[in-house]
Amino acid sequence: MSDPRTVYLADYQPFPFLLPQVRLEFTLGPKATRVRARLEFMPNPARPGRHDLFLHGENLRLISAKVNGTSVHSELSDIGITISANDLSGDPFTLETEVEISPAANTALEGLYMSNGMYCTQCEAEGFRKITYYPDRPDVMARFHVRVAADLPVLLSNGNPVGSGPGWAEWDDPWPKPAYLFALVAGDLVAHADSFTTLSGRKVDLNIWVRPGDENRCAWGMEALKASMSWDERVYGREYDLDIFNIVAVDDFNMGAMENKGLNIFNSKAVLASPDTATDDDFARVEAIIAHEYFHNWTGNRITCRDWFQLCLKEGLTVYRDQQFSGDMRSHAVKRIEDVLALRARQFREDQGPLAHAVRPDSFVEINNFYTATVYEKGAEVIGMLRRLVGDEAYAQALDLYFTRHDGHAATIEDWLKVFEDTTDRDLTQFKRWYTEAGTPRLKVYEAWSPAAQGGTYTLTLAQENPATPGQPEKGAKVIPVAVGLLNPNGDEVVPTTVLELIKPVQSFAFEGLAARPIASILRDFSAPVVLDREVPAAERAFLLAHDTDPFNRWEAGRSLAKEVLARMITQGTKPQAAFLDGMAAIAFDEGLDPAFRALALRLPGEDDMAATLHQSGHTPDPARIHIARKALARAVAERLAPGLPGLEAAMRVPGAFSPQAADAGKRALRLAALAGLTRLNGGAAAQAAFADATNMTESFGTLAILLEAGLGERELAAFEAKWRTDRLVMDKWFAVQVSLSAPEETAQTVGRLTARPDFDMKNPNRFRAVLGALTGNHAGFHHASGSGYRLLADWLIRLDPLNPQTAARMSTAFETWPRYDADRQGMIRAELARILAAPGLSRDLSEMAGRMLH
Ligand code: ZN
Repeated sequence: MSDPRTVYLADYQPFPFLLPQVRLEFTLGPKATRVRARLEFMPNPARPGRHDLFLHGENLRLISAKVNGTSVHSELSDIGITISANDLSGDPFTLETEVEISPAANTALEGLYMSNGMYCTQCEAEGFRKITYYPDRPDVMARFHVRVAADLPVLLSNGNPVGSGPGWAEWDDPWPKPAYLFALVAGDLVAHADSFTTLSGRKVDLNIWVRPGDENRCAWGMEALKASMSWDERVYGREYDLDIFNIVAVDDFNMGAMENKGLNIFNSKAVLASPDTATDDDFARVEAIIAHEYFHNWTGNRITCRDWFQLCLKEGLTVYRDQQFSGDMRSHAVKRIEDVLALRARQFREDQGPLAHAVRPDSFVEINNFYTATVYEKGAEVIGMLRRLVGDEAYAQALDLYFTRHDGHAATIEDWLKVFEDTTDRDLTQFKRWYTEAGTPRLKVYEAWSPAAQGGTYTLTLAQENPATPGQPEKGAKVIPVAVGLLNPNGDEVVPTTVLELIKPVQSFAFEGLAARPIASILRDFSAPVVLDREVPAAERAFLLAHDTDPFNRWEAGRSLAKEVLARMITQGTKPQAAFLDGMAAIAFDEGLDPAFRALALRLPGEDDMAATLHQSGHTPDPARIHIARKALARAVAERLAPGLPGLEAAMRVPGAFSPQAADAGKRALRLAALAGLTRLNGGAAAQAAFADATNMTESFGTLAILLEAGLGERELAAFEAKWRTDRLVMDKWFAVQVSLSAPEETAQTVGRLTARPDFDMKNPNRFRAVLGALTGNHAGFHHASGSGYRLLADWLIRLDPLNPQTAARMSTAFETWPRYDADRQGMIRAELARILAAPGLSRDLSEMAGRMLH
């Protein structure tokens, strides 16, 4: 791929100037906003010599540019301005510019834009250049002083407030930061306020700013914020560093949220939650995203990235930290299972297809296309592996060194690995391949047992394979931490969890002095992001499902069994085996187990997951057959559980006031699983009654989904709409669930009906994703043999691209799995990708994605 716009890591050069201080003045107007910038530059000793000054700038109307008070000529292009070295004098010298921009015309939601009459910004990764001329790169760190003028009650920016009056406010941020962390918000907002006193006694004002009417949806976010602040003090020794921390909820937002210094901006979906409008999953997501953005204050803001190739430096680490936090707040086992489910569903799929890229890529066309599951979630897995390899204590020491050594700097993955090398004396050269090489390693397992009178020897031979990915045909062996435990045949653990370090292509590990041939529990807690290629007799899986002491592997045993059963049903038309169904029943009714764990164990593998599994084992997946077989398996499980379902449903009712905590959420999840089973067997009566009696969104939305999946629920759907028609976030659920659960042959029609409604607003990313994202998540509907799903998605991407290229490009990844399917489907998908590529004026975002998927 030789797109002339490609940027390469190898071309990195420091910026020729330092920029200690920035002053910005905004005079806001929807159609015309004036931005005056005063930038103080100094030569950068890291780039000696005379240099022209290049500043990024896009869609800016330049009004004036002055150096040290004198107008200068600037060479304009569509990516920025250049001021000749001849016009730059003095050390330091001052550049003053004035530009005009139009927030109301900004539908891309990058830079300064408007959402429901409110001004807000999104600058990561390269949005600041749409606000003013600036060296818009993360290694240029400056102190910002900002003045905002507008006839609006709330005017916010980064840092601490330093003055305000009618129609204006000034903010000063003492911490040097890159421009991508800049933020501004202005609007008619109200605050849910609280405070937090840090470890060293600093009192911090906390606010969640929302539109009037949303005040009662802030309490949970605030709890999560305070919990995050104290967790980061306790676990990482990191304290907050300003007098105020503001969060703002915005309805129109491309991603989940953004960690702007002292002024986090959130998609309202990722912060607002109340029992009547948010499900338990929403509550958990809000908690995790609040924590994620807060944790960025140290991993991202105080220590930022030298360039965007290092994105995983902040994202992988911050995801790792938010996962640890959620595990501490809830259940580690359940959290780990959920994280692995998400990793496999999104990252493995990416890593095994045409969009595979390294955790630290070395080239890109549009950086927004690299905010991926690989950079985020695999980036977090790599840190988890590093920790397993060095141990908890060394991990803590390395992190302390990282914070002291790099505070205030823009760092690299090399810097990150070096703190581990320096604290442990380990050579991480080979480990670094996890950052530079794409693809999911496959692990094969061979076992040998040699009995002996004084104790036998069990030998585990592990072999790794590192499949080729686009642009990387050859790969070296990875360092793979494989956590293993051994059980004896009566279920006792004879060798507790041990981390084997696989560093060669093939390596053997011996366990001596064993009384009987053990049963191995391999890759406990999912100790490495690999595919375990292992033929295991069903009886052994059933044994692990019943006895494994590692909760992740206990769940995994059931999962593998379910996939094997389902794969045989799909490819051979067999009936589900009794051993599997018995195992499900044992878990479902085991009162010693956490209800959340039981609910997870009962969830069958998804259809997309099955398509991937079949493809990997050499079959061509047929989406229609997968859909039918999965329904049949769900029914068979329900039949096996039938006698206990009414009791389970009753036992899992949660009386009293709603609490979003994990214990109650787990019961609600298991109750819904029971209701789903009852609905499959007996029709909708039980779920309809539960819908009518629901006292929270988890129950009403959960039962609505159960009914729709069974082809029922028209009345409930209408009641839900009547109740929530003016609530954007709740209506997103209503839109999404109809598409996700519509029958394969009706999916396209459902999408057509919903997109024709006046309340389908394609400019709102949440609403667009609710419908088109749900289309791509409905496996059998999207991959319907007629090609209607493919066509529909391509039509909408072509329509959205001129308005919001970032969201269009992201949604195009639905096509990344084309190589799995039959020739007809492959041909249809490739034709749609070609049609997208041929669309006139296609964005850099979407053209890069479509091009990579087509090769
Ligand atoms: Zn992040």
